[in-house]
Amino acid sequence: MVIVMRADAPVKEIEKIKERLEAGNHKVSVIEGTDYCVLGIIGDTTEIDTNEIEANEYVEKVMKVQQSYKLANRMFHRDNSVIRVGDRTIGGQDLAVIAGPCSVESEDQILELAKRVKECGAGFLRGGAFKPRTSPYSFQGMKLEGLELLKLAREETGLLIVTEIMSADMIDKFVEDVDVIQVGARNMQNYELLKELGRTTKPILLKRGLSATIEELLMSAEYIMSEGNGNVILCERGIRTFETYTRNTLDISAVLAIKKLSHLPVIVDPSHAAGLWWMVEALAKASVAVGADGIMIEVHNDPANAKCDGQQSIKPERFRALMEDITAMAGSLRRII
Ligand code: PEP
Ligand code: MN
Repeated sequence: MVIVMRADAPVKEIEKIKERLEAGNHKVSVIEGTDYCVLGIIGDTTEIDTNEIEANEYVEKVMKVQQSYKLANRMFHRDNSVIRVGDRTIGGQDLAVIAGPCSVESEDQILELAKRVKECGAGFLRGGAFKPRTSPYSFQGMKLEGLELLKLAREETGLLIVTEIMSADMIDKFVEDVDVIQVGARNMQNYELLKELGRTTKPILLKRGLSATIEELLMSAEYIMSEGNGNVILCERGIRTFETYTRNTLDISAVLAIKKLSHLPVIVDPSHAAGLWWMVEALAKASVAVGADGIMIEVHNDPANAKCDGQQSIKPERFRALMEDITAMAGSLRRII
């Protein structure tokens, strides 16, 4: 961390800041320039509150050289993290395919879709049982009954199940029942929930918040990891921009940025990014091409009558075609589906 003092900063003020930092066990080196005096803080500065330093009227600016996240940071963990989920892994060479409806609607629906996506080569079944909806009057999910149906689908197909948690009081149930716990975009900054999930060992699929920066996403991952759970998978699902043609804007470069900054696996959800079913296949392929560790796709056998997100759900036939293309791509990218 570097602190640039104002040109007119009295020596006494500079000394005061230096002493304060040293009292917190930080090594400070003072560089006297012709106009400015600069303080260089060496070592771990994650706990230093830059706002507090910036509040000093003689401080021109504070620059952090190091990122605030440590456990999620590639700097301290060069190799890609590979997360074990049941008999599968996410990250490394593997390309995870998570597919299924936005929400679990009935036994027939989820069993049928689970079989179809399994036949096409998916490894994971998605399906919301607890749904975060914009309107309280919209379908809120089948809740516990939905969880039971997901378990039934797992039993019938062997697919691992991924489903969203909405509140911390369901953690024990989710740990018991599901293979990957999804934290949705709307809960990305629900820090109490993240901390509680950090006290489990379950793989957590952390989706990027609607307007969250990459750094904020990584800080949220840090919340989970700092409590002891390193099994975090990140998910780019589109962000809010001024563009209204698509539901969100898929930030495809976020995959590259996250991979540079962090060792955690990152997958892409093109369904929620685009919000338009006819874009999903191409965006899924773009995600694989750019190096995502997996994709999450909404698939529905009757999108026109889906209880949630039908407009962005592809039919099983299209999912099959997508899987064929992706399997061909995976070969040349040295990835394994
Ligand atoms: C979902 O995956 O069903 C979902 C609600 O996604 P997001 O949290 O990204 O909006
Ligand atoms: Mn959805």
